[in-house]
Amino acid sequence: MLYLDHAATTPLRPEVRDAMAPFVGERFGNPSGVHTTAQQAKNAVEEAREQIAASIGAARPLEIVFTGGGTEADNLAVLGASWSGHGAIVTTAVEHAAVLESARFAERNGQVVTIVPVDRCGRISPGDVAAAVDAETAVVSVMMANNETGVCHPVDEITQRVREVNTRAAVHTDAVQAFASLPVEVHDSGPDLISVSAHKIGGPQGVGFLFVRDGIKLEPVIHGGGQELGRRSGTHNVAAIVGLGAAVTASVADRDGYRNRVGAARDRFEHDLRSRTNIEVTAGDAQRLASHSHLRFPGIAAETLLVRLDLAGVAAAAGAACHSGAIGTSHVLDAMGIEPVAASESIRFSFGRDDDASTGAAAAQIVSDVVEDLS
Ligand code: PLP
Repeated sequence: MLYLDHAATTPLRPEVRDAMAPFVGERFGNPSGVHTTAQQAKNAVEEAREQIAASIGAARPLEIVFTGGGTEADNLAVLGASWSGHGAIVTTAVEHAAVLESARFAERNGQVVTIVPVDRCGRISPGDVAAAVDAETAVVSVMMANNETGVCHPVDEITQRVREVNTRAAVHTDAVQAFASLPVEVHDSGPDLISVSAHKIGGPQGVGFLFVRDGIKLEPVIHGGGQELGRRSGTHNVAAIVGLGAAVTASVADRDGYRNRVGAARDRFEHDLRSRTNIEVTAGDAQRLASHSHLRFPGIAAETLLVRLDLAGVAAAAGAACHSGAIGTSHVLDAMGIEPVAASESIRFSFGRDDDASTGAAAAQIVSDVVEDLS
């Protein structure tokens, strides 16, 4: 099986599994306790926090808040900042549902929400984002790279433009898809809030973190025992947090190599496909993550193609794969102004850390054979 759905989730790295193993076994303590068993668990959580802070250049480990994944980190960033500030939210039409649905929830509860559109290639204009910001804006959320198309957004430039209009608004970026290949580094002129999820970078599912710049106030979304300095209550998932720390460390250490390998795979894949069959790159000439290939196969229904590809040994995805499992219309393609027919003929292939140009060539062979059969 050629697994080309790494944007949905990635296999666990062996070193992550090894790091987690003691914490699903004899080191079972609850880090909130005072005895030795609890303190061992607490030390492991704090070590992971330090590892992550160092990996992203955060000044203080306590700027890292552990969450139950990227979705929860996004909810905490958008809702937490909205509730603690003036309330208004500015975001974009191509965000992950974790951000968009948080914004819609806030809107139903009386907040002002502005959705910034994108162009035909899925690009966001920093000027459009700045124009949507005013004195009432509490939080601006713009993803670093899109999960469907892979289109990258100029988050630092957007942050600076936002601050020219409103210095108190918190800027959030969802770096869940981008983290594997783009530098995610904290600096003064960058975002105040950054979401990351472990399972996109060789870590376990159901754990992630939100970087919260020192001084940024967030109302908690999950209330309870006051863990994570009251920002996220609930007993820590120690094994998962240890796995997250190990995955972040491994991913950052291998980022350049990873980008080269997946880029070679993706470029060879698209090159070979282009020479054999009719494809259109959904994002046109927009800058994309090296791992992502979102393509239209004119005249071929995505659902049929996906099933036939699966039978032929290639796993790919249509629509937002980490959604519900069902293939629905994609709000991302919709926002790009892509006709429903074209959207229904589009598929996402996403390469992973063990792939290289030979994977791209093998995948192109299988995909072009299946497409020829269906034509
Ligand atoms: N944000 C983006 C851009 C994503 O691609 C995903 C998942 O695919 C999420 C957020 C949600 O992350 P999680 O699956 O960890 O909840």
